Amino acid sequence: MKLLKDRILKDGRSFEGGILKVDSFINHQMDPILMKSIGVEFVRRFGNLPINKIVTIEASGIAPAIMLGYLLELPVVFIKKAVPKTMANMLFTTVYSFTKDKEYTVSVSGDFLTPNDKVVFIDDFLANGNAAVGVNQLIKQSGAELYGMGFIIEKSFQDGGRRLRDLGIRVESLARIKELGDNKIIFEE
Ligand code: 5GP
Repeated sequence: MKLLKDRILKDGRSFEGGILKVDSFINHQMDPILMKSIGVEFVRRFGNLPINKIVTIEASGIAPAIMLGYLLELPVVFIKKAVPKTMANMLFTTVYSFTKDKEYTVSVSGDFLTPNDKVVFIDDFLANGNAAVGVNQLIKQSGAELYGMGFIIEKSFQDGGRRLRDLGIRVESLARIKELGDNKIIFEE
């Protein structure tokens, strides 16, 4: 997606160790016009599937997911990174975070993800794929059917894309980055 890649080159900041900061338009301040274009691009890629719901994970997945849900007129469910104290019928799994080097629990209500649901999962970044693999487990537990996963940015030099595709999951990434260094951002063709 050219608009997105141009914006990453203009406003993204890359660091040694393979970290990309996009705080000025995705992860902290958000650009709703770009986010709408991202939603349109996800519609182009997933809009023909027989889905009835969009799934994402808080916090940064919510903006692109709500754009897609708005355009397809479908509900959006976000998986919670904290464990709610008062909700019944919750499904749980643990996710390992490389950046924080610890495991955390994610959860979703079985009222909102059910065996009747056919879903696409949307998130901001795909890196090692731990979050997405955890989400896949939650979707399996719920009995819902996963039709695909869409990411704004995939860091293809990390293992997440291969892990998900090895699980047979359709992965759509709007910008695929093959190299990130100090002030260096190189996209896949
Ligand atoms: P994964 O589970 O695929 O390794 O990545 C989990 C999460 O880490 C992503 O959803 C994203 O929030 C965050 N993340 C991983 N790499 C980056 C990065 O280079 N930049 C930013 N801003 N977030 C990242």
